[in-house]
Amino acid sequence: MRIANHDGRAVIVVADDKGIDVERASAGAFGPAVESLYPRWDEFLAWASTAAGGAPDVVLDPELLGAPSPRPAQAIAIGLNYEEHAHETGYEVPSTLPPVFAKFASSITGPRGVVDLPPGGHTDWEVEVVAVIGRAAHRISLEEAWDHVAGVTIGQDLSERISQMAGPAPQFGLAKSYPKFSPMGPWLVTTDELDDRDDLALGCSIDGETVQDGRTSKLIYSIPRSIAALSEVVTLLPGDVVFTGTPDGVGLGRSPQRFLQPGETLRTWVAGIGEMVHTFR
Ligand code: ZN
Repeated sequence: MRIANHDGRAVIVVADDKGIDVERASAGAFGPAVESLYPRWDEFLAWASTAAGGAPDVVLDPELLGAPSPRPAQAIAIGLNYEEHAHETGYEVPSTLPPVFAKFASSITGPRGVVDLPPGGHTDWEVEVVAVIGRAAHRISLEEAWDHVAGVTIGQDLSERISQMAGPAPQFGLAKSYPKFSPMGPWLVTTDELDDRDDLALGCSIDGETVQDGRTSKLIYSIPRSIAALSEVVTLLPGDVVFTGTPDGVGLGRSPQRFLQPGETLRTWVAGIGEMVHTFR
């Protein structure tokens, strides 16, 4: 099943351009906002599996899609989670849980739009698969981890490298939390829809040139292993989002280095989920 945040309302997506409004179809039992579904995810899924056969009543406008979890209590990101990306950035390949940091929630935006580049900055791209939590998780096992994920979506962990690298230790959280630096979308996809939830192809292009092209099967800490490891410390809450790491091909690791420029178009995709399109100014 695919669930979109369309103009602030939860919609079951039945085709790329059609959906069923959750609040109307449930006569007010669920919705209207998508974030209200996650604390009742199991109950919602049980209802939605019967409602998904109904007649669509929403024409989806890509410009009106928002992040599938627009106001998570926690937005957690994992760095250096692909070996080639660790190499290109000059860090050692992690042998334990890779670095974990926060992306502040005010930086979340939807799958389309214009992002302002911080003046004087070096803004870089990082395609990632984002897992949205559907069931609270604390000290769960690897085997249990996928059961706590409502679904996955596409994310960009946009990163301003000058402020990230300034100072005695990297400022991951701050440098990745400018307004609209955490786009997500175009919708949430439950993992039963995917051919192989542990091997998703992901990538992005700038003005048509592919710059990242990876697969989640190459994650150092797989998505379920990351969720289980995070849950050893943090209580993951329904609606929380986990950016699971970016493959190689970021601008920082290129020679010469390359960063996003005004007027460029960044397309970001994950096979089986869809794509996002952002421009910069
Ligand atoms: Zn990242």
